[in-house]
Amino acid sequence: MKYEQDRNASGEILRLLIQKMAGHPAAFTPPNYAVWYEFSTGINPALSEAMGKLLDSGDKLDDDAIEKLYAKYVSECNMDVQRVLREDIQQLLGKIAGFTEETDKQAHQFGDSLQTYSDTLKQNLDVSMLGALINNMAGDTDKMRGSMQNLQSELEASKQQVEKLHQELQSAHAEALTDPLTGILNRRGFETRAKQIFVGQTTLDKGLCLLMIDIDHFKKINDTYGHLFGDKVIRAIAATLKSKVRGQDVVARLGGEEFAVLLAETNISGAHTAAEQIRQSIERGKIRRLDTQEQIGGITISIGIAAHTKGASILNLLDQADKALYISKNTGRNKTTVHGRQ
Ligand code: GH3
Ligand code: MG
Ligand code: MG
Repeated sequence: MKYEQDRNASGEILRLLIQKMAGHPAAFTPPNYAVWYEFSTGINPALSEAMGKLLDSGDKLDDDAIEKLYAKYVSECNMDVQRVLREDIQQLLGKIAGFTEETDKQAHQFGDSLQTYSDTLKQNLDVSMLGALINNMAGDTDKMRGSMQNLQSELEASKQQVEKLHQELQSAHAEALTDPLTGILNRRGFETRAKQIFVGQTTLDKGLCLLMIDIDHFKKINDTYGHLFGDKVIRAIAATLKSKVRGQDVVARLGGEEFAVLLAETNISGAHTAAEQIRQSIERGKIRRLDTQEQIGGITISIGIAAHTKGASILNLLDQADKALYISKNTGRNKTTVHGRQ
């Protein structure tokens, strides 16, 4: 869940936010509330930074400003892309319907004229009349063929357009599942992939483990070296995770400084080895500061591991790995804990 505040805490936030929102001209719409909510709880650092700057400069947030913040930092998929694609598809369907309707009309007319010719042929016709009839028939057939060819090429063009739309839709979809900071899956992407894995029973039968990973004292890293350096750390950790797992494994940033890794066809001891390799590699690594070029070391992560057991859902697994992670945090950090084995 993106929002973790319980009823009481969120009620308090609601009360405070209504007062704050009242000081700005934007309408009290759900997106407006979502923007303020994520800003005030600090769960969306990129939004906090952008919105903080606006507020610091004394700007009043109107509908336009809220819409921009919402689209850029809150809405998970690009609504504009979706809207444009929907309109394009509708337009295309309309065009195809128009072509087929026109061709259908012509086919009917052609059928009618064939009937007329056939009726005419029942009468006694002399050679010149027959000649005229054949000429007319040839003309009508040509017209029909032309219109069929037209339809065919229009349909071919439409087919290409549909393929292009399909590709655009796919990349919009991929974008909605990707975390822009690191390029790995976001929470929604993780849930989508996890669902696919949980449907494929054979993968589950071969063993599946989940690692929950959280950067230690990350707030302090941000406070000491700045938010941009913090972002660099997040990217570096995402890259390390990616490099330490296999193709079929799933690596995602669930939010903030928290990651999840699903290890397919892996038992608990394999998962433990993988987790320790990741942990040690991060502990040994150094990241260069952008401003002073100084190499910063000593960044560590804590890990919680849970193994899939028969009948368990992805939520059970997340919950168990989270509990194990919590134990790693409470027993010194920079360590790996296996759920049920502490
Ligand atoms: P712990 O060892 O217990 O995990 O402590 P912590 O400081 O890592 O945990 P805490 O949850 O107190 O703080 C997490 C911080 O991560 C707060 C938040 O500002 C920061 N953060 C979350 N997302 C981002 C991000 O995208 N970029 C940067 N630079 N910081 C972020
Ligand atoms: Mg955390
Ligand atoms: Mg942390």
